[in-house]
Formats: sequence, structure tokens, C-alpha cells
Amino acid sequence: MKKHCVLPPLFGAVLFTVSSAFAGENHKPAEGGAMLPIRGLHCFAPHKPEAAACEKFIREVLPKEGVNHLVLEFNYNFAFKSHPALGSANGLDAQAVKQLLKACRESGVKLIPQFNCLGHQSWAATTSALLKQHPEFDETPHVPADNKGIYCREWCPLHPEIHAVVFALMDELADACEADAVHCGMDEVFLIGDPKCPRCGGKDKAELFAGEVKKLHDHLASKKRVMWMWGDRFLDGKATKIGKWEASENGTHPAIDLVPKDIVICDWHYDKAPETPRYFLAKGFSVVACPWKNESVALGQLKIMRALAAEQGGNKALLGMLQTTWVPFARFEKAYVGEGESSDGPGAAKCFKALFAEMRKP
Ligand SMILES: [Zn+2]
Repeated sequence: MKKHCVLPPLFGAVLFTVSSAFAGENHKPAEGGAMLPIRGLHCFAPHKPEAAACEKFIREVLPKEGVNHLVLEFNYNFAFKSHPALGSANGLDAQAVKQLLKACRESGVKLIPQFNCLGHQSWAATTSALLKQHPEFDETPHVPADNKGIYCREWCPLHPEIHAVVFALMDELADACEADAVHCGMDEVFLIGDPKCPRCGGKDKAELFAGEVKKLHDHLASKKRVMWMWGDRFLDGKATKIGKWEASENGTHPAIDLVPKDIVICDWHYDKAPETPRYFLAKGFSVVACPWKNESVALGQLKIMRALAAEQGGNKALLGMLQTTWVPFARFEKAYVGEGESSDGPGAAKCFKALFAEMRKP
């Protein structure tokens, strides 16, 4: 345990306590009976031609597996009316979303739309619609058009006109889904506070990140919607040794103390199952643990959540599990029925089945 002595006081204490508890032979986490309130699946939203297959999947698979929350990541894959140029002709429109919403409701599933904010504004050489149409919002306009040398583009959180556009898109999506919660993404932000940005250069990155979280949160709260987001930028990657992907090594982690607490943190970890849910709980957030394609990690995260539930009794902030998939919807659906290619789809489908089988145990 001494190797963790560089941890900040709270996080250090948290890790010591939980790890010690798990090391004790007498410590028995609650068995299957600890039913966590959220048993979710995260998928990319289908394209228009896949809508019927998605509806079938919602009706036939989700109730059978025990899924009660579906986070659909749309981003710009939606036929936006407020900003048609930022949407996709191949994306669902509001009417098609209503069909999925009906299927969700009739299947006992809550639908939560996701719109990636701040980061993930490009993927490989392809820049997403927002920064293509509005290069003035780009945090790093000096980066070559093929995105060479960066992970993903980000928008500038201090551009005075960015939020009017983004809020219109988010509201339109949330209205179509009749959602009382929106997942804002916010993961893997690396470029924030770029020294060449005339607005952000030289500013504290934790304050910049927290400022953006607060803006999004306050807007959603004004519409009576709860903000969900990935948790990685709130974790200290160096002190915890979790690294720069699942945690932050670019100075954003102190933002955890600067943002509202009524945010649902989606605590994703794909290689190991660290005790981070306890950290988020101790900071006052609600937390959902998120695996991907490693069954032992998923079951480890479930064990942590159940142990916390047993220990903390009726703590309503312990929300549950959200299985991520990270392949296009159609590929995940095929992988689920065993028709997957040898890519990430089958791994995620296998992990999903193992996790939900465990969660269904009485
Ligand atoms: Zn900026």
C-alpha cells in the first residue's frame, strides 16, 4: 500500500479503506440480491436504415437481459432541424426517435440521449460537423485538416458563440427523446487550454474544464434535466497510476471540487476495476460503473458496486452499471446473436451477457 503514499489525502484514504476491506476474508459483499437501480447499455444510435432492427433489439433483447436504461450516443447522427447542416441525412429524425422511445417505454427501458461535448469533435482524419461548419469554435485551428498529431479535436469552451449552437442541438435531441437526462460525454479531453488559443491559453485547465461542466449542467438543469458524463477527467492519473486515458494527466482533475454534485458520473475502466466509484461517492456524486469487453473487469466493477451498496445501505447515489459497446449499433446487434466479425463487437457482446447474467441472479 505504501506505493500509494503520493495520493491526495482523500483519494488515498479511500483506496486504503476499500482495498483493506476487500482483503479481509470475513468481508462478504452482498450476493446477487443487491439489485442496483441502473442496469444500462450504451450504444451508438442507429442510422436510419437500422431503425427497425434497433426497435426489435430494444423490444426483444433488452427486457430479456434485464436492461432498464439505454444510453444512445447520437452526436451529429441526427436530422437536426435547428441546424440542419450539423446533422446527418442518414441519421434518425424526431419521428424515428419517437418509435424507439415507444419501444423503450413498452419494454421498461429509460432512453438517455448522448451528445459528446467539448472533446471527441473528430475521429481519426474525419472532423465532425460542428467544427467543419464552424472552424471558429476549434480550440486548435492550427492543427492540420487531417488531424495529424492529435487524438480528437475539441471545441473552445470560452468561445462566446459556441453554447448557443450546442444547446440548440442538445435540446432538440433531448426533446425528441423526451429525456429527463442527457449524457454529455466530456471524456478524453487533452487539448483544453491550448497555449495558442487566444481565449484559453495560459488559463488553469481544471477551471476551464469545470467551467464547461457547469455551463452544460446549468443549462440542462434549467430544462429539468440531469447531466450524465464520463468521469475520467476528474481522476488524477499520475497519483492513482490509472494513466492518461481512464484518468487525467493534463491537470483537469481538481475540477472535481469545482462542479455541481448532482451529476451522474459514468466511471469507465476497461483494463482493471479500480476503487474509483467510492471516490466519486465520497465527493458527493452519483456513480455508474462502466465496463467494455473484459468480463473479469465488468464482474470486478459489479462486485465493487455491490459491496458499496451493502456497506452504504440505502445510498441512492450508487446507481449501477452501464455496459459500453464502442462499435456501430448494427455490428453490436450482430455480435449479440453470434454473427460478429473478429472485431470489438463480439468482446463487448460477450461481456454484456456475462455482466447481465450475473446481475439477474436472485
Ligand atoms: Zn479556447
